[in-house]
Amino acid sequence: MEFAILAESFNKMEATRKRLELTQILVELFEKTPHDVISKIVYLIQGKLRPDFEGIELGVAEKLAIRAISKSSGIPIKKIEDEYRKSGDLGHASSIILEQKTQTTFLVEDITVERVYETLFKIAKLGGSRSQDMKMKYISSLLNDATPLEASFILKILLGTLRLGIAENTVMDALAIAFSGTKENRKKLQHAYNVSSDLGKVAETIATKGLEGIEKFEIILFNPIRPMLADRVKSEEEAIEKMGNEFAAEYKLDGERVQLHIEGDKVALFSRSLENIESYYPDIIEKIPKNIQADNIILEAEAVAINENTGEFLPFQELMHRRRKYKIEKAVTEYPITVNFFDILYCNGKSCVELSYKERREALEKHVKEDEFAKYIPMSIVKNENEIEDFMENSINAGSEGLMLKMLDKPYQAGSRGSHWLKLKREYRNELGDSLDLVVIGGFFGKGRRTGNYGTLLLATYDEDEDTFPSICKVGTGFSDESLDQLYQILHPKVSIKKNPRIISEMEADVWFEPELVIEVVASEITLSPIHKAAKDVIRKDAGLALRFPKFTGKIRVEKAVEDASTNEELLTLYKGQKKVAHEKNLM
Ligand code: ATP
Repeated sequence: MEFAILAESFNKMEATRKRLELTQILVELFEKTPHDVISKIVYLIQGKLRPDFEGIELGVAEKLAIRAISKSSGIPIKKIEDEYRKSGDLGHASSIILEQKTQTTFLVEDITVERVYETLFKIAKLGGSRSQDMKMKYISSLLNDATPLEASFILKILLGTLRLGIAENTVMDALAIAFSGTKENRKKLQHAYNVSSDLGKVAETIATKGLEGIEKFEIILFNPIRPMLADRVKSEEEAIEKMGNEFAAEYKLDGERVQLHIEGDKVALFSRSLENIESYYPDIIEKIPKNIQADNIILEAEAVAINENTGEFLPFQELMHRRRKYKIEKAVTEYPITVNFFDILYCNGKSCVELSYKERREALEKHVKEDEFAKYIPMSIVKNENEIEDFMENSINAGSEGLMLKMLDKPYQAGSRGSHWLKLKREYRNELGDSLDLVVIGGFFGKGRRTGNYGTLLLATYDEDEDTFPSICKVGTGFSDESLDQLYQILHPKVSIKKNPRIISEMEADVWFEPELVIEVVASEITLSPIHKAAKDVIRKDAGLALRFPKFTGKIRVEKAVEDASTNEELLTLYKGQKKVAHEKNLM
């Protein structure tokens, strides 16, 4: 398939933000796409080469790309850099520059999607510093044969700056229309996606096997299943209203969610955001297979740091010490964990997600043996407020965050947040009613004791409609010396020369970060602000939402993707909720 067709579609997509128009462009593109390249097209649309969980990163630096443009076009590096500075987007800058060039000397041959994809794949597979020359060769060979428009998109994919604003749902809408005639079938595709986390595979299946293939789509061992999430409730009373007379209460442990795929000695571990996390948990890989009584299995557990002497659960931050590339063996002995199982999603070649909670818990206890390292998450069937409160007390005393409440007769709903699971945290009862997960977008250098670190951070929410990160507050309290150091280590490599265009803020931060890290904060109130940009203009013209007295809780949410951060919608709900409470208090 000619790459020009894809580049043309990208060009049209960049020109609109309207979902219906994007869907239509995608439908037309899919209809022109041969079935054997459709998965590649779907990955490329998302600026990827493979599904996220395979961890294939292009990782090409701007400098290298500039050198490659210069090599293939003969244009001096300085001129390319000047154009880049003007437009702020290297892909765009290169198209302007190459445009001038083609008019004089260029002879362009056609390039195919397959060739671009294979070459990008080779670039991604190259590692080490020696590989820079090879990478440059590959890039300039593509650029040699590309038209300016094609070159601009190849570069955007390479640099990770292709942002078409296309949500997975829009891709699925378009696939449903292109291959089954109606958007109504999106739900079936959604299910296939939820159990495979691989949109390319879903696309290939509907293209080659139609809806029938999608209906038969099954869980694939070693492909992560998108996690089921919980709604929040503020009180035992509210929980009973929503859950009925009898339901399960489990400890909500404060660790890292781990999805385990096991067959014999082969083990894969995925985080909440479906990242591969095997390297942090060699102890799980080594020990857990012995506890499994099945040929193959997919389980969910919370890995929690413990005090080895007392068995007590320690807070999430302790696990951070394991997020390192080197000397992981040392971290494993210094920061021991237990693995606390709470669900089973697949066993002996069969899916378990359709089973009820009760059946799954039974299956879990049948197929996983407990020992010092592997535990079942403490669970109790509760019937009234008193029983919930008692169990909550036990849970908090054991060092956990609160309770997860689960309906006994409901299946596992992969990839959705719903009311079949509720979370009840202790802290929900006070102030704002909830902690927030916010994206770190900027930093201000510290003074005094904090010299050399970022003493204050600028934070943002996630705007789902615009796919941007509007600022909501600066936070400078709640940091221990240790957490300041830790944050510096994590954030320093994320400093960017130019403010990422997805960041919406008019503040003058000392440094801007690539929006990649989520931290947890609490605050006393949400207020309107002329400075911050979260949900701007929604409540009042020219005002955004801001946090009053924000405080870092100590939790760096490394397991959360920035798109999982608290959204404008969530903030608006909390803002309105707080208004309602104030109003009721005034009436009392
Ligand atoms: P939170 O900020 O509360 O962790 P979240 O957005 O990460 O929220 P939720 O679905 O809202 O995810 O809360 C569930 C999370 O709590 C899971 O992702 C998991 O890591 C953790 N957890 C702890 N104990 C349990 C349990 N018993 N059952 C399910 N999840 C649990």
